[in-house]
Amino acid sequence: MDDAWEPPVPAGYNDANRAFLQAFMARGTLTFREGQKILAAIKSAAEDDPDVTPQSITPADFENFIRTAREAIEPLDFDIRNTRDQVCSGERVWAFINAHSDPATQLGTTRTPEEVAYIKRLLDAMFETYNTPRMEVMAVDEGQALRVSRPARRESNVNGNGHGGSDDEDGEEDGEAATAAAASRGLKHSEVLSLLASLVAEGWLSKSRDGFYSLTPRSLMELWSWLVATYNDQDDEPEWQHIKFCEACKEIVTYGQRCNEPDCTVRLHDICEDSFWRVRGERKCPKCSTAWDGNHFVGERAVTSRSGFQRGRGKRRRRSAEAEAEVAEDVEGEDEE
Ligand SMILES: [Zn+2]
Ligand SMILES: [Zn+2]
Repeated sequence: MDDAWEPPVPAGYNDANRAFLQAFMARGTLTFREGQKILAAIKSAAEDDPDVTPQSITPADFENFIRTAREAIEPLDFDIRNTRDQVCSGERVWAFINAHSDPATQLGTTRTPEEVAYIKRLLDAMFETYNTPRMEVMAVDEGQALRVSRPARRESNVNGNGHGGSDDEDGEEDGEAATAAAASRGLKHSEVLSLLASLVAEGWLSKSRDGFYSLTPRSLMELWSWLVATYNDQDDEPEWQHIKFCEACKEIVTYGQRCNEPDCTVRLHDICEDSFWRVRGERKCPKCSTAWDGNHFVGERAVTSRSGFQRGRGKRRRRSAEAEAEVAEDVEGEDEE
């Protein structure tokens, strides 16, 4: 951030608030337990008292620091949001985010145009190609991530963006031409693999035990508006949308359960279901009344729960190798252009 200009600071903003915000920004995300450790260290230093323990920091202390930090960063178009981790413990996570974020503004400063274009194709794969009314995977395995290392051939001459709407029309010609050229160039497989690894390390993507890449809670918070604007149909509100929300908490579901009725749009996080059913008594879909068995999935389990998945592990590995060989051939072919 620019040192020359200081934003207006909230009343009572002090060195402890400043230190907390710096620690938060450096990490990008915080859980309450991590916040306890940071605040205990800050208080120990400030009060010259080595005995401030993380356990002595209460949720109210933490919330106070979060509230003050939010006030301090709001004039800069940043925000702090929180959500629960859908996949693991359901632990609440706070994220320091850019309030008007899309993949280009989020990653444009640290990534090359080729990498940003690849990340857009990866998101298209997650939220379009592998997210259909019958199979809402919203995650990709390594073979699928490599398949989009370069733009599809039919797209390489038409600016590479299949969505429309979000492109600026009066941007600089040079910039657009450079972006289009970068988009059509694509990445080598080795570059894709190292980019995926660094996106995982930086907390933008998570990689599951079964090898699926999906968005982390932080990415979902950061890209919430962009994902909805890009992948959902705003005009005639069709029944089924690419980005779906939990019936209980109304947050995005990329890992959870779906109604047994294939045409019903009710979705539920695993972490939300206990409290959801407790107040209902009957495990029936609140919309279509179909019995809810919890065995129809959103996320990678749409693939991994299928009986063929475990049986087909070896076969799939071979298929994936074949897919990579195929893509490699494509890449060689395109190099001749
Ligand atoms: Zn939920
Ligand atoms: Zn239903």
